[in-house]
Amino acid sequence: MPSSSSSSNVPSSSLRYPVNEPTEPSEASTSTLTPGFERWRSSLAQFTGMGLTEEEKLEREKMKEMKTLEKDWDKCEAYKRDLMENSPMITFLLNHLRLSGCAFPSSALQCHPCPETRSGGFSPEHGILLCQNRFFSKKHMEDTLAHELLHAYDHCRFKVDWGNLRHHACSEIRAANLSGDCRWTREVKRGFYSFNKQHQACVKRRAILSVLANPACKTPDMAEKAVNEVWESCFKDTRPFDEIY
Ligand SMILES: [Zn+2]
Repeated sequence: MPSSSSSSNVPSSSLRYPVNEPTEPSEASTSTLTPGFERWRSSLAQFTGMGLTEEEKLEREKMKEMKTLEKDWDKCEAYKRDLMENSPMITFLLNHLRLSGCAFPSSALQCHPCPETRSGGFSPEHGILLCQNRFFSKKHMEDTLAHELLHAYDHCRFKVDWGNLRHHACSEIRAANLSGDCRWTREVKRGFYSFNKQHQACVKRRAILSVLANPACKTPDMAEKAVNEVWESCFKDTRPFDEIY
């Protein structure tokens, strides 16, 4: 004869689990839904953006941001490796930096996210910055890298005082003139070695913009004046392109 359960205070549902494994405190709040369903629900929620708590939404945004950062960084590093090995312009400049005693290893060319206002930078202390989220093509990155390598070359070969606007202007004129910024390399490939007025206007405009970003430059007039003062000699100076070793 079965014993009567009515005499016991133990709820009948517990009787089906004679051994209750204790849960860790962190597991205590785990949903009672099956793991498979839980995965499906959260992936659907991620997909639609619906059914998320504020905390989950923030987490999702963070994940998306991280994925974008990682993707941009991977792309920038892949472009960089390719350009360092295969771009005639970049290998030429790297080679001349090495010959001048300022070798630029891959680690001195750094991919980082940047604000919209810039695509690269050069710092004597930190090397070259490549703005991983600002390149719309490998060609664009090649132009930017060539531009920064020309600053690096100037810094290596000449005593550049970057706080001196005339020094800065000279390097910006050369960088804009000799990198692909104003399509110099394309013109050369086409066989046009004489620069037209449009090219000069482009170089001047870009040099003024860059000098304007110098903290020592207070007004657009100061930038324009610095560029004009060194224009003749710096525009003509095409080193290292005319150097023969
Ligand atoms: Zn520059």
